[in-house]
Amino acid sequence: KLYNQVQDLKGSIRVYCRVRPFLGGQSNYSTTVGHIEEGTITIAIPSKHGKGRRMFNFNKVFGPSATQAEVFSDTQPLIRSVLDGYNVCIFAYGQTGSGKTYTMTGPRDLTEQQRGVNYRALSDLFLLAEQRKNTFHYDVSVQMIEIYNEQVRDLLVTDGLNKRYPSMIIGYIPCMFLKLKLVITNCSGPNCIVTIRNSSQTGLNVPDASLVRVSSTSDVIDLMNLGHRNRAVGATALNDRSSRSHSCLTVHVQGRDLTTGAVLRGCMHLVDLAGSERVDKSEVTGDRLKEAQHINKSLSALGDVISSLAQKNSHVPYRNSKLTQLLQDSLGGQAKTLMFVHISPEPDSIGETLSTLKFAERVA
Ligand code: ADP
Ligand code: MG
Repeated sequence: KLYNQVQDLKGSIRVYCRVRPFLGGQSNYSTTVGHIEEGTITIAIPSKHGKGRRMFNFNKVFGPSATQAEVFSDTQPLIRSVLDGYNVCIFAYGQTGSGKTYTMTGPRDLTEQQRGVNYRALSDLFLLAEQRKNTFHYDVSVQMIEIYNEQVRDLLVTDGLNKRYPSMIIGYIPCMFLKLKLVITNCSGPNCIVTIRNSSQTGLNVPDASLVRVSSTSDVIDLMNLGHRNRAVGATALNDRSSRSHSCLTVHVQGRDLTTGAVLRGCMHLVDLAGSERVDKSEVTGDRLKEAQHINKSLSALGDVISSLAQKNSHVPYRNSKLTQLLQDSLGGQAKTLMFVHISPEPDSIGETLSTLKFAERVA
C-alpha cells in the first residue's frame, strides 16, 4: 500500500493548505474561512473587500484543529521515499504569522506532540533505516542554510570540520557525536557565506556548507537548535530576520545494499520560506525595500519553476534565484515536491489569504 502511495506521488507536485487557528482568546472573531472538505476550502470575502465566496481546490486542506501528527501522516510516504533514493522537497509558504514555522519546526518550547515535520521526518527516517538494517546500511547527514538577500549562509558553522575561523565566536555547545565542539558564530559575518555549486558527484549543492553526520533524533535537535541560534544572531530584536529569509534543512541519505553493494542516494530539503506578504513599496526604503525585492523575486521565481513543472514545460527557469538554484535537483524530474500553503483566519488578512491561495492554485 505504501509503495502505491509513493508511486502516486512520483514526479508530481502536491499542495496542502493549512489554516492557522485563532491565537489566544480570539475565538469569537469572525473568520474568512468557510467550509472545508478534504481538498476544498471556501473563503468568505468580507464586504469591504468586495463580499462574496471563492472556492479553492488542493490535494488536501487541514483545518484549524488539525494536529501536527495528522499533518505529518499525510507527508510520511513522501519522506520515506528518500530512503529509496528519491529527492524530496517540502516547502512552507504563507504570510508572516500564518504558521509556516509551526508546521515545519513547531512552536517555541514545544512538547513532543507539537513537534513539526522536520523532527518527525528525521525520526521516521531513523526508524525506517533501523527496520531495514539487515538489508541496507544508511548514512544520514544534514546541512542547514539560510538565504537572505540572495546570499546563502551556512547555519551550522563549525570549528574544525571546515577549518573555518569565524570572526566572532559567541558561544559553544557540546556535541558529543562529532567529538568536537560546534561553534556558534555571528552568522552575519562573511565567514558563513557559501556558494551554490551543484556537485553531481557528491550530490551536494552547497559543498562548502557544514555537513554533519547524524544518527539519532537528538543529534538533529541539537543541530536545529544551533541553526536557529545562528540564524537569530544575525537579527536584532526589532529586526526579526527569520521572516525575511528562507531557511533550509537538507537531509542527505546514502544507502548501501548489503547484498549487492549498490549505493543509492536521496536528499530532502525542508524549507521554511520567507513571509510572502507584499510590502507596500511606498512605505519602505533602504534595507527593508531591498529585502522585500529579494523576497519577491525569489518567491515568484519559485512559483514560475513549480508552475512550469506542473505544466510540463520544456524550459524550467531555475536560474532566476538562489532558492531555485539550490533546489534544482529536487524540483522536477523524479523528485517529489510538497508545498504547504498557510493562511491566517482573521478578516484583516483577507488580502494576503487570497493572494496566497491564488499563488498555490497556480502551482497545484
Ligand atoms: P510564520 O512562521 O508563518 O511566521 P508561526 O509558525 O511563527 O508563523 O506562527 C505564528 C504563531 O501562531 C505562533 O505563535 C505559532 O505558535 C502559532 N501557530 C501557528 N500555527 C498554529 C497551529 N496550527 N496551532 C496552534 N498554534 C499555531
Ligand atoms: Mg516563521
